[in-house]
Amino acid sequence: MSYGTSSIPLMVTGHKLHYFDIKTIIMAYIKEERYDEQTTAAIAAHYKEILRLLGEDPEREGLVKTPERVAKALQFLTHGSQQDGAEILRSAMFNEEYQQMVLVKDIELYSTCEHHVMPFIGKAHVAYIPNGTITGLSKIARVVETFARRLQVQERLTTQIRDCIQDTLNPLGVAVVIEASHTCMTLRGVQKANAVTTTSAFSGIFLKDERTRNEFLNLIR
Ligand SMILES: [Zn+2]
Repeated sequence: MSYGTSSIPLMVTGHKLHYFDIKTIIMAYIKEERYDEQTTAAIAAHYKEILRLLGEDPEREGLVKTPERVAKALQFLTHGSQQDGAEILRSAMFNEEYQQMVLVKDIELYSTCEHHVMPFIGKAHVAYIPNGTITGLSKIARVVETFARRLQVQERLTTQIRDCIQDTLNPLGVAVVIEASHTCMTLRGVQKANAVTTTSAFSGIFLKDERTRNEFLNLIR
């Protein structure tokens, strides 16, 4: 990105003015990350001590900025706990008479195991059958993201996604399947590199009607 000459102030962050040239304004999508300075500094101070306890020299070149980087990474990986999944769905709700299955499959999933603070990675498949109200398809993926970006266990993640959609859209039913590989299991512990954990949660017609449930399970195969 160029911070060019024919510039106009585009964004004010804190006290700093950022200047972007005209071309950048037209071309670029600018995504900005912001972190609370006090929280970052506090986590970093603890992490510096952790590095020391691991027998490292936190002052050596490669590690000097590591505590701050880790502090920011941890805040990013858990920022979903400050978001409201229901609000995300409500931001795009439409009346629609469609009463067939809406399925969003293979949603990439990155979450963090709350027992080891290590990532688990996989995909989520989410379906619902509307009952007068639909939501934007991207909102389904965002709900997954919101609940994944927290300290989690896969089981709770699965039911939280189901409950959020069921309680907010009030559809005829919701189905959620998550398949994930847990690095706390593949890189440490039993070290089973290919183990995949599958969890599922259903509500409404997906619970009551085996045909509907099987249709969903066939579609995500
Ligand atoms: Zn774990």
